[in-house]
Amino acid sequence: MIIKHDEPLKNYTTFRMGGFAKTIFFPENIEDIELLYDKNGDAFSYILGGGSNLLINDSHYFGEVICLKMLNVKIIREGDGVYQIGGGMRLQKIINEINGDGYGGIEYLYSVPGLLGGAIYMNAGRGPTHHQCISDYLESVTVFINGQVRTLKKEECAFSHRYSAFQDMVNPIILDAHFRFHNEEKDKLREARESRMKLVKEKQDNTKPNFGSVFCKSNTKIMKILCSISNKKGVHYSKKTPNWLLNDNGTYEQAIHEIKKAERLHKIMRQSCKREIIIWD
Ligand SMILES: Cc1cc2nc3c(=O)[nH]c(=O)nc-3n(C[C@H](O)[C@H](O)[C@H](O)COP(=O)(O)OP(=O)(O)OC[C@H]3O[C@@H](n4cnc5c(N)ncnc54)[C@H](O)[C@@H]3O)c2cc1C
Repeated sequence: MIIKHDEPLKNYTTFRMGGFAKTIFFPENIEDIELLYDKNGDAFSYILGGGSNLLINDSHYFGEVICLKMLNVKIIREGDGVYQIGGGMRLQKIINEINGDGYGGIEYLYSVPGLLGGAIYMNAGRGPTHHQCISDYLESVTVFINGQVRTLKKEECAFSHRYSAFQDMVNPIILDAHFRFHNEEKDKLREARESRMKLVKEKQDNTKPNFGSVFCKSNTKIMKILCSISNKKGVHYSKKTPNWLLNDNGTYEQAIHEIKKAERLHKIMRQSCKREIIIWD
């Protein structure tokens, strides 16, 4: 298992922000996870996937952190669209692999820079009106929790919009998952991937580091007001993509200020909003 010391966590997040980790572990399999659990239990409080939904305090010195980008990076074909996929696999890679076999269903996630474990934890998907998320094709998830490996059926994971039961568990590690994807013509799957990337180019502001949507529930009008009055320096709301914060060499303090500003405005206008991004304070 690779172990690094005094690592800048900003290198592990798409928002390019974060303090340092005293030690960062890169487990590759269940044996590494068990070893860590016995010797470095504290590390389980800070689990990194692809770091694409994380805001990390830039002035905090974190102790032990686990990065799962090397965990079970494999895909096992069980036939008829059934796959066992490792938690450390990139979503784009998974889609390329299953589409290559003539199976699909999650091409709208082609633009999401996360790993499978993070996507299951967040129940990543499209906006709330589309009712499409990674759990649609999921059958079961294998998770390391309280020192034990457990396999949970989809029904036990309580998936809903950007929610999974893993968010309420104490330091779970998603090891792998079983999926059953649907059969589709390869040309159609390629078109679906291409149309996703075209849409993303048109609608999403990737000019600066970001973590996608800040809120999974928010009022569009309020978010548009915030975009129009947002400063262009440091951490600021994108003018192109409402609900996205961009990091132009900004600080954690600025990011928190912008998030709280949006939450306050929703409260004043009696609208509900729910934060999607995970914060390591
Ligand atoms: C450009 C861009 C576009 C995006 N588009 C979308 C989109 O279309 N739809 C969408 O839903 N999201 C989107 N996101 C947000 C983000 O990519 C997703 O939430 C993604 O699923 C997070 O995965 P990750 O591996 O990066 O998780 P991380 O950000 O590393 O972690 C997120 C949470 O999951 C936990 N976690 C990670 N891996 C595991 C594991 N194996 N076991 C247990 N817990 C784990 C972490 O501890 C953390 O609490 C976007 C982000 C960006 C930057």
